[in-house]
Amino acid sequence: MMQQYFALKEQAGDCLLFYRMGDFFELFFDDAKKAAAVLDIALTSRGENNGEPVPMCGVPVHAADSYLARLIRAGCRVAIAEQVETPAEAKARAKREGSGSKSLVARDIVRFVTAGTLTEDTLLESRSANVLAALAPVRDTVGIAAIDISTGEMALECVAADGVAAALSRIGPAEIVVPEGWAGMPDGSIERPRATFSSEAGEARLKSLHGVATLDAFGAFDRAHMAGAGGLIAYLDHVGRGTLPLILPPRLREAGGHLAMDEATRASLEVTISTGGTRKGSLIDCIDRCLTGAGARQLAEDLSAPLADAGAIRERLESVAWLHGDPLWREDLRRALRALPDIGRALGRIVAGRGSPRDLGQLRDGLSEARTLHELLQQVDPLPALFRRLLPVLSGHGALVELLTRALVPSPPTERGNGGFVAEGYDAALDELRTISRNGRRAVAALEAKYRDETGIATLKIKHNGVLGYFIEVSARHADGLMAPDSGFTHRQTMKDAVRFNALALHEEASRIAEAGGRALAAEDAHFEELVERAVAAKEAIAATAQALARIDVTAGQAERAAEGGWTLPEIRDDNALIVTGGRHPVVETALAASGDRFVANDCSLSERDRLWLIGGPNMGGKSTFLRQNALIVLLAQAGGFVPAQAAQIGIVDRLFSRVGASDNLARGRSTFMVEMVETAAILSQATARSFVILDEVGRGTSTYDGLALAWAVAESVHETVRCRCLFATHYHELSRLAETCDALSLHHARAREWKGDLVLLHELAEGPADRSYGLAVARLAGLPKPVIARAKTILDKLEKGRVATGGLGAGLGDLPLFAAAAEAEVEQCDTLREALRTLDVDALSPREALDMLYALKRDA
Ligand code: ADP
Repeated sequence: MMQQYFALKEQAGDCLLFYRMGDFFELFFDDAKKAAAVLDIALTSRGENNGEPVPMCGVPVHAADSYLARLIRAGCRVAIAEQVETPAEAKARAKREGSGSKSLVARDIVRFVTAGTLTEDTLLESRSANVLAALAPVRDTVGIAAIDISTGEMALECVAADGVAAALSRIGPAEIVVPEGWAGMPDGSIERPRATFSSEAGEARLKSLHGVATLDAFGAFDRAHMAGAGGLIAYLDHVGRGTLPLILPPRLREAGGHLAMDEATRASLEVTISTGGTRKGSLIDCIDRCLTGAGARQLAEDLSAPLADAGAIRERLESVAWLHGDPLWREDLRRALRALPDIGRALGRIVAGRGSPRDLGQLRDGLSEARTLHELLQQVDPLPALFRRLLPVLSGHGALVELLTRALVPSPPTERGNGGFVAEGYDAALDELRTISRNGRRAVAALEAKYRDETGIATLKIKHNGVLGYFIEVSARHADGLMAPDSGFTHRQTMKDAVRFNALALHEEASRIAEAGGRALAAEDAHFEELVERAVAAKEAIAATAQALARIDVTAGQAERAAEGGWTLPEIRDDNALIVTGGRHPVVETALAASGDRFVANDCSLSERDRLWLIGGPNMGGKSTFLRQNALIVLLAQAGGFVPAQAAQIGIVDRLFSRVGASDNLARGRSTFMVEMVETAAILSQATARSFVILDEVGRGTSTYDGLALAWAVAESVHETVRCRCLFATHYHELSRLAETCDALSLHHARAREWKGDLVLLHELAEGPADRSYGLAVARLAGLPKPVIARAKTILDKLEKGRVATGGLGAGLGDLPLFAAAAEAEVEQCDTLREALRTLDVDALSPREALDMLYALKRDA
């Protein structure tokens, strides 16, 4: 057995090996130690290996899913080794092979369970996608193939090497596979043989999977896309041991098709996960009113990759606006959606060969509900364009629905092996077999009465169990009479208090029942296979219906959320305006409402002429909230939804950046200030005039002088060079002097008031620079001890006197040349030096001349 185990373990590699033994999956050696620790189950030992006891632990097969779920969540991957023959088959084989009576059941790894390749309902979150991504570096680009195998949705894209992190933060894969030894691989990636990332093989696989001679109909793919697809499909082959999951035709995701956001921006806006690492507290958690898991998954995708195309955004908005304005239709649609099973995932399981009768039942119910929606929507005139496009795919499954309705019982079981899911009247032969079983069971009941009569034992019972089948049972003290050779009963088993018998008539009846039962099961199994085949044949159409239903759910859910929160339809514009009247932060507003507080709405009005707002004001004054709410309003609008405001006009944004000063950020290995600067550098190099940037206290992570200097230079650069819309929160008063030189920059502040010595934060934005910082008042509000506050006040007074005398932190900045001119001059000087060096003939110089030259260069520099 150990030999067999080691051979399988070799194949399993670094996956935990679940070794099937009877009703248990057993784990041995280090696997056992690891699993026992993660699962908190007993670690025992069994036998010896090299004189050492072998550590072992096990989980029952019937409960394996929940253990698997915990292992996967803890970052493990598992190889499942099943018995692939019965003990009887093993014995026969051993005899044939002449290896004596000792026969070991053959086992084989039937599949791998990994975070990115789950299909089981119990292992998946219904409201979030579960994505596997393969990365294939090709020259200086990286092809990314991503699939959610629970629904088969696949997307291919190609990004520059430095765009991988941003793309992955959008996709949010549960598992990433990369070519072995690739230097650019993200942490935690799984390395696979390089040869599997072949673009030729990828293209060939996709063509044969979808039965096409060319992939042109799906999109214009290049080598990097195909190499990613190749690596992805090869890995799916590997984990499924040759059984591929549902793979729908790939979608090409084009660069620039979406509102781009990098990892830091997503994290700071808490789009799909909050800073705490959970869905709770995130934007999606606050706005998701979808009624189906598929809808929630679609919404997550919408928010992760908002659109950048005005036409597409307006199309979504038009449909949300219709349902927002028509609560009756909205309720009608939502009533239908409420009853909807997750047909996309049911289909995924069916195609992967792990479907159950219940999954078929879900297809039946979901597809017929789709038809109901189709009929409802047909009555709408005029129907918004988006719905008009979805309409055709909602119907067209009539024959399949009709077949499944006839074939299946109303609520089919999740177990396929026990039968009982094919409906009465679907198959006459099956009905007949069932009648035989039923009659047989009735006859058995009659026999019980008859035997009681004959023996006079009123407590005689006919029972059934898995080992004996049907038998007669009497209590021990009644047994003697039945033991007599001529009694007509044969003894089978003596228990403590009871004795069990058989009888000829019972035996005959039991055989009839068993035979009919066995044939009925076989018949149901054959029907199951056939129904699965019919469903698989329509897989693409079913998947399209599932996607359409998800889109309808998202649309109705967005309308519902908008109605609930008093949100508004944003006007999408083609210029660089961002005008929000009475804007609110949806998450903060919800949190405040829970404690009975009101959110103060604020306006934002950025345009070509006034594109950079510098926002001052006390800590806790609401600056960060204001910045983020405007970023979220842009994001929500471009995702095609209403926004939390009275009115909003949004010029399409191509890239959204959100940066938070270092001290608000947790260090992740690198120094916080370093992180802050790296992220800021990314904005200055990537933002365009169509971008929207929010900068929250950038420059805070270093000393006052450094910080002010950097904040100043960054603000100038955004104003002069990037020229994008930007909200910049800062506590450096000195920055307000930028307003003197930067004409598209204006000053704003979060208002506060001191009242009877107490600070009142109004959370209200006003024009003009902040008058003072209220730092001590905030400290008092935070409960700093009175003596400390008093001492700080004395020190502050001294410092402020000093400031008046010397001109303070910003002294000397008055004659700072303008950013562009200064930068140019600095670059020019550099060029003169370079020019002088280039024209220099070093070999022709005497040591003395060389030295003179150096002095000259130094003087000019
Ligand atoms: P700052 O960035 O100025 O330090 P924050 O934006 O972090 O301030 O806001 C601090 C707190 O003030 C928030 O947690 C929130 O509870 C409250 N707050 C912020 N903005 C508003 C608002 N517009 N209306 C009501 N409360 C607000």
